[in-house]
Amino acid sequence: MTALYHCSGCGANLPADRPIWRCACGSHLDLAPRRGLARGEIAGGEPSLWRYRSALALEGSPCVSLGEGWTPLVERDWVGVKVRFKLESQMPTGSFKDRGTAVMLNHLIEVGVGPIHEDSSGNAGSSIATYAAAAGLTCRIFVPATAPRGKVVQIAASGAELCVIPGTRQAVTEAALAAAGESFYASHNWHPFFIEGTKTLAYELWEQLGFAVPDNILVPTGYGSNILGLERGFDELERRGEITRRPRLYAVQAQNCAAFAVAWAAGAESYVPFTPHATAADGIATVKPVRTAEVLRALRRSRGGVVAVPEAEIAPALKALGCLGLFVEPTAATAGAALSQLLRDGTIQANETTVVVLTGHGLKATDKIAELLGV
Ligand SMILES: [Zn+2]
Repeated sequence: MTALYHCSGCGANLPADRPIWRCACGSHLDLAPRRGLARGEIAGGEPSLWRYRSALALEGSPCVSLGEGWTPLVERDWVGVKVRFKLESQMPTGSFKDRGTAVMLNHLIEVGVGPIHEDSSGNAGSSIATYAAAAGLTCRIFVPATAPRGKVVQIAASGAELCVIPGTRQAVTEAALAAAGESFYASHNWHPFFIEGTKTLAYELWEQLGFAVPDNILVPTGYGSNILGLERGFDELERRGEITRRPRLYAVQAQNCAAFAVAWAAGAESYVPFTPHATAADGIATVKPVRTAEVLRALRRSRGGVVAVPEAEIAPALKALGCLGLFVEPTAATAGAALSQLLRDGTIQANETTVVVLTGHGLKATDKIAELLGV
């Protein structure tokens, strides 16, 4: 059965049977809710996110996979508290993006996509360039001139065409939008199938915790695709009667560029303008998220919130994680700083089950980490 898109802007319903990335009215599209997942439907022998294939809105078997998903969930001691870390940094391209990319590109291939392009500060670009290469798709990636070198090298090595755009991150997005007539804009921030992929994070945490739901999940958040994926995944599990309660979701942001924190502090339901500053957490330095209202709603519904991490707390958190054997990029390290903050102020209790999602590998940002740690 063909999946359906719904536009919250104009109310249109469209079949997901061709490559489109937004509604004709200009608004983003969402995938209609699916029937979800029951534990008997898991393909237990499959060590990747494709163990949940029956719950994904794809027509057939995946044409391209690099073994994404089914990442380790390890327990460590954090200031005397037992915490679980979800190592999304161990994906094929070193970041959580591969969940969304794999499902989005398999859908796009099913509906006959041609050449694609994407804009990214790094991780999404390297993920999409890598999967495009694996699938034999022609690919162009627009990156800011300030993008971390490791990620740019990763994009170039996959054979994608690199388009370096001077100026702000917004200028990069505008260049990608302008190219939408030449090739398909496979945008991880716009395309609903990206969130269809990130929802498998919810399934995995539930299964790895012995078919149980944690109390708290902390996620470094730029556009919010993991927050929306978690909400969609837990929603589906609840509708199928597999779970009866929901985890509190905490979006972790760098205080220097924190769109959700600004809106949250103002008690707003949608975007509130602010002045961004530079941050070492480049992967979450998002000035204007596409789905601001949806992410804020998901956080409120979960009874979680937003944590803004001061710049000075990123390096110590990165070092503390490193000393636990968890080598992550500065963006992911913000989650460690947020964890300390929530434990300190009593929002999170030591006896609760808390999961910290580590979104990107340290090898992606060695130059920046060297600077932060004075190596
Ligand atoms: Zn519309």
